Amino acid sequence: MDANRLAKRFVPAAVAWPGISARCRLAIRAGRYSQTVATARAFAILGVAGCASHQAAVTNAPAPAATAVRIDTLPSVVMSLGGEARDQTANAFYSLSRREWPGPNQYRSANGAPGPQYWQQRADYKITATLDTTSRSVSGFVQIHYTNNSPDTLHYAWLQLDQNLYRPGSQGSLLFPADSRWGVRGFRGGYDLSDVQVAGQSATPRINDTMMRLDFPRAVPPRGGTVDVTMKFRFNVPDHGSDRMGRDGALYEIAQWYPRMAVYDDVAGWNTDQYLGQGEFYLEYGDIDFAVTVPAGYTVAASGVLQNPGEVLTATQRERLARAARSALVVPVISVEEAHARTAPGTRTWRFRAEKVRDVAWAAAPDFRWDATSWNGILAQAYYQWPKSGKSWEAAAEETQWTIRHFSEMFAQYPYPQATSVAGPVGGMEYPMFVMVAGGEDSLSTFSTITHEHGHEWFPMVVGSNERRYAWMDEGFNTYIETFSKELRWRDTVMIESMVNNWKNAVNAGSDVPLMTSADNIPPSGLGAVGYRKPAVLLLTLRNQVVGPTLFDAAFRDYIREWSFKHPTPGDFFRTIENATGRDLSWYWREFWYTTNVLDIGVDGVRHEQQSGESVAIVKLHRRTPVVFPVKLRVKYSNGSVRDFDLPVEIWANGSVFDAVLPAPVAVVGVRLWPDTSVPDWDNSNDTWGDPPPADPVRKVTLK
Ligand SMILES: [Zn+2]
Repeated sequence: MDANRLAKRFVPAAVAWPGISARCRLAIRAGRYSQTVATARAFAILGVAGCASHQAAVTNAPAPAATAVRIDTLPSVVMSLGGEARDQTANAFYSLSRREWPGPNQYRSANGAPGPQYWQQRADYKITATLDTTSRSVSGFVQIHYTNNSPDTLHYAWLQLDQNLYRPGSQGSLLFPADSRWGVRGFRGGYDLSDVQVAGQSATPRINDTMMRLDFPRAVPPRGGTVDVTMKFRFNVPDHGSDRMGRDGALYEIAQWYPRMAVYDDVAGWNTDQYLGQGEFYLEYGDIDFAVTVPAGYTVAASGVLQNPGEVLTATQRERLARAARSALVVPVISVEEAHARTAPGTRTWRFRAEKVRDVAWAAAPDFRWDATSWNGILAQAYYQWPKSGKSWEAAAEETQWTIRHFSEMFAQYPYPQATSVAGPVGGMEYPMFVMVAGGEDSLSTFSTITHEHGHEWFPMVVGSNERRYAWMDEGFNTYIETFSKELRWRDTVMIESMVNNWKNAVNAGSDVPLMTSADNIPPSGLGAVGYRKPAVLLLTLRNQVVGPTLFDAAFRDYIREWSFKHPTPGDFFRTIENATGRDLSWYWREFWYTTNVLDIGVDGVRHEQQSGESVAIVKLHRRTPVVFPVKLRVKYSNGSVRDFDLPVEIWANGSVFDAVLPAPVAVVGVRLWPDTSVPDWDNSNDTWGDPPPADPVRKVTLK
């Protein structure tokens, strides 16, 4: 019997739920019946589901516990509040300022979806570039066809010049130590730009560090006006490109390599945050045709689809690639025997086209091994130097295929025709259809990074949030979906505990900051926690402990579908989740996204009383931080029986203590908060009382 059927069968005789602003007394009376722990749990859920605003709790009842316990009489359950007066602004349920929640308006709807007048700009690129391996430089020409879909007339544009991070004295070089992950390592680089033209007329760039303003000779009209920007560019390739690009010997990994349009949106207008190294990217969608000229012996791996295989691949390679495109098994396109440095006179030009992308990147080396396979018509490829890349890379094409397949099945179909992994000096970095991952012998580490980087194809390559402002919408969402991938691939792995510990370590080290902190302002030592694990834990907690997997999974897929190839903001995500799960989650966003408060609720004690002729146990709960949270209690009775009770978050509306009045036909001898120990409660020493019943084993996450 599942919880829904129980909920219908045992309709409470009397339910009083006057709302969260007044003293709350909830009385539920039911007749005599036999039941199991499962029905007791369902009853407790039913109790909190008595008012319409909590129906979600009923449909979302957790899976029944296993142990059957016979309890002949179920007395009334009465909850009463601790009742201390509080300043309204200190109330955990008080509305957020919603600074990050623009609207709702005609562009962004109240239900979290793009509004009826939603618009975004479009940037299409044609790029030709040459890699000079003697001067270790890239030079090229870019033509940007920019479409102004906004309701505004534009008189100028901002472009991103990421290579200027490597100019001596750049803002990033001043902020991040030279030897740090994002540091410039003393490299002196930056763009040389020439022949800058706007609408066919010579233009004078106004460069501010990594941003460039170009004024339009004629205003670009709203709702479809276009303008073309062209220029020549050149830069020396940094060996260590802030762990996002670089060079190792003859191998080049090239990204942030051409001047790109900044995003103009309805929230900020021009998004002009500088590229400092740690913060990632926010880019417009469009189609990109690019041609890369390299020494003739080089192989190029890239975003997009190769347009001229007849000019750059041998007949044998083309035949192998065609076979791989129909094969679920891995086909070597350049085999281990063939993967030695080739020297050939002259150069070759590799042409690629990438559609519906926000960026493109590429890599080139004379000695790549190249493996390919496919799933559902999507080519999955791995390029790696052998044996330098480490043995783990022989599995990389299969891992790429596996990742694309499982994320497609779990969240949303991968929308691109190919997915490429390249081994090289960059530890792990993502671009559309193309990721760079460090070489190594450790197969767990290589899979972990490959599945993480390809997860970024969903966040933020397809769901195009502002990574530079909101690391949690990029790395956090990706770490969340990566949890499902890893727990599926590694049968014995459950991720949550290590992620909670990572968050705790950041708190203890003083490097925790609110999730809303922009990526560059997160302490580098806290980035792994604040940008990745903490938001992943909070999404898992929201899913598993607050709204339930069924509604959350559907809501999360709604969010992906609504915002694919668009620019969602935090408010759009919050609204999508609240609408789709039927919950007001202000308290959750407020405490966990806008503050560094942590959850710590404890059990202060238990006493027994007679109330209305029935024996009850009063469990004294104590909230030790501002963070409110729904409470799950597991109670052990003197006859050995065990029952679970769910209390709604609203028990904390009027104070930090709450007396939960529970049926106690026999004495309560032990209490455990959070039978599911994956709840991120900070101090588990106060989570039990007496002789506590056992906790549940921590379960793997499985998509609903
Ligand atoms: Zn990442």
